[in-house]
Amino acid sequence: MSRLYKFLDLEEVNRPFMADIRSALDRVALSGRYVGGPEVETFERMLADMTGTRHAVGVSNGLDALRMIFRALILLGRLQPGDEVLVPANTYIASVLAVTDAGLRPVPVDIDAYTSNMTAGAVMRAIGPRTRAVLPVHLYGRACWDDELKEIISENNLIVVEDNAQAIGAVATSAGLISSSCHTGALGHAAAFSFYPTKNVGALGDAGAVTTCDDELAAAVRALSNYGSDRRYHNIYAGFNCRLDPLQAAVLCVKLPHTDDVNASRQAVADTYLRHISNPLVELPAPSKDGNCVWHQFVVRTAMRDSFREYLAANGVQTDINYPVPPHLQPCYAESMAAVSAPVAELMSQRLLCLPVSACTSVDDAVEISAIINRYSEK
Ligand SMILES: *Cc1c(COP(=O)(O)O)cnc(C)c1O
Repeated sequence: MSRLYKFLDLEEVNRPFMADIRSALDRVALSGRYVGGPEVETFERMLADMTGTRHAVGVSNGLDALRMIFRALILLGRLQPGDEVLVPANTYIASVLAVTDAGLRPVPVDIDAYTSNMTAGAVMRAIGPRTRAVLPVHLYGRACWDDELKEIISENNLIVVEDNAQAIGAVATSAGLISSSCHTGALGHAAAFSFYPTKNVGALGDAGAVTTCDDELAAAVRALSNYGSDRRYHNIYAGFNCRLDPLQAAVLCVKLPHTDDVNASRQAVADTYLRHISNPLVELPAPSKDGNCVWHQFVVRTAMRDSFREYLAANGVQTDINYPVPPHLQPCYAESMAAVSAPVAELMSQRLLCLPVSACTSVDDAVEISAIINRYSEK
């Protein structure tokens, strides 16, 4: 075996930023401000400016970002417990956990295998009398947003909560529902970001944020994630402690300005795979359209996934499977979602394989990995 092509090595990903990260951590350590404060405020301003939204609220992680949005929408009377929320059938389970946490009903919508996202047509067919909201997940870094989806959403007056955990910096082909920005995070009524260490822009631990152009919603999310307090010792909601740690905010202030650079290097690797992989046994994902995909994952599909994965491992290529089981088939939802039909998502979960696409993978690596893939044949 020639060499190892790592799927991801977080120490390596963060190495170029380490000098700045260390001085940022030092600054917080010496500041005496260990909850909230200027680092969090700077981070929030940066993220709002980047996405083209009025507000960003730092929170503890991506799941809490989604949870605070749905709970705020209920407290503000914009959603009622029991309302249906359309969610893609192929997503990380956190998207669905936030919906059920708020007492809402997730309705999985099947996806398109080429884009991995739910389609406007499937959304339209899934809309019923109790459908009040839709949760587009920009899965694998690809914006789940176009004119058709926007039109269906407007016609049906649906609330849109984006799960932007995987697509920071992506630019959709259509502007937002309310905002004129095309950036993911500005497309609906509110959006959740995750800065989990493995995301395109990762903290040194858990971190997340909510973006929105809605003043009332931003205030509710901010209060809710701070014990339900709108000012000191005054609690308008029975809230939570889901605040962003200023140490993580300081790290993110170092990394956020490099979002487009890290995404561009992923794009270069993805382009290389798309140009070089020519094995008829391996189906490729859709290319990025004018930056609408930031390649959080590069996902190929093959009917002989497990033997293909073993072959790649034997040739030094590490891979991953995101996700092997769709949420509606997980034990916690198997009963309540027994009636769900999502054949594409289910088949894809058996066929998909994620190739290395992080900062640890160079364009030359991608050429070599493609050649290894092209030599694969059915035994
Ligand atoms: C990572 C992720 C989340 C959850 O974010 P955490 O910060 O890990 O809580 C939610 N949705 C999607 C699609 C994700 O990839």
